[in-house]
Amino acid sequence: MKVTEHLKNNKNTVASFEILPPLKGKGVKGVYDVLDPLMEFKPPFINVTYHRYDYVFKEVQPGIYNKVYIRKRPGTVGICAAIQFKYKIDAVPHLICGGFTKDATEDALIDLYYLGVNNILALRGDPAKDEKSFKPEVNGHAYAVDLVKQVNNMNNGKYLAKELQNSFKTDFEIGVAGYPEKHFEAPNMATDMRYLKEKIDAGADYIVTQMFFDNEKYKNFVAKCRANGIDVPIIPGIKPITKKYQIKSIPRMFSVDIPDDLIKEIEACKDDAAVREVGTAWCIEQSKELIKIGAPCVHYYTMGKIDYMLKIVRELF
Ligand code: FAD
Repeated sequence: MKVTEHLKNNKNTVASFEILPPLKGKGVKGVYDVLDPLMEFKPPFINVTYHRYDYVFKEVQPGIYNKVYIRKRPGTVGICAAIQFKYKIDAVPHLICGGFTKDATEDALIDLYYLGVNNILALRGDPAKDEKSFKPEVNGHAYAVDLVKQVNNMNNGKYLAKELQNSFKTDFEIGVAGYPEKHFEAPNMATDMRYLKEKIDAGADYIVTQMFFDNEKYKNFVAKCRANGIDVPIIPGIKPITKKYQIKSIPRMFSVDIPDDLIKEIEACKDDAAVREVGTAWCIEQSKELIKIGAPCVHYYTMGKIDYMLKIVRELF
């Protein structure tokens, strides 16, 4: 079933979870250990992130290092198929432009379609570690909107090859990312909003937001979207802060603000166990309000951690 069908079929707010594929060399059990206990809450769908190639320096002789490209977390497509097979629920793979040619994207979509995975979240991806700004592959996409267009073309039977313009129609529902506090590269919110609208006009069916810690940001974002003619469901994405260092790393990595009240509470914590308590309580309060204002779904960034996530959803769903 498509994500928006799940949202329509549920009168109440539902919970969905985002997980990471295992690190290369680890088995799939770690993913099941996270998902097994969450099944009690009947999540309608599970998102699986995509991780592009990255590089590390490997010592080949004492003092001599080679730059080696590796994908630390491969397996997004496989994990999605495994989730659908094992739990009989929908999986939403994240597909990115970074590191993909259009042809590789087409082939990945064909694999997904054969596996019965009919939902995708279409993203651009961040710049690679050694790039100052995002660089598309040669014959790849520069923006998520171009990926949305490619998927939409396939849904209309148009593949890349000239001779395949009236071919088998895939049936993907497409989600895209939205940023209540603006994407870090966008010069201003209005421009970011304009490009978000382009993604919807190109065929995206719903939006999942970047994490935020102040619900006012989500409410303002939804109001701006509606004022700009964006009328698709907007799923809020949230996560609890669980470690003290995250009050510095999260703003840096995700370009989001953390409210001062939360910062003060975290700064007063003696250790990370106390931070987890504070972060979890904050996330529960955020969720309660999002449910109250009728958010269609609350999307939790689990980061592969289950204990505090269970505490949060047990209180709410
Ligand atoms: P875009 O929509 O392409 O926007 C990128 C920037 O370009 C924005 O500043 C936008 O305003 C601007 N822009 C858009 N279109 C145009 C245009 N036509 N002309 C000029 N400027 C334009 N990353 C991963 O690598 N893997 C994941 O699994 C992953 N999952 C994510 C899930 C969610 C819910 C979110 C919110 C983010 C996720 N990301 C993931 C991170 C995401 O890839 C980055 O935030 C990335 O920098 C932007 O992706 P986007 O799809 O929003 O890009």
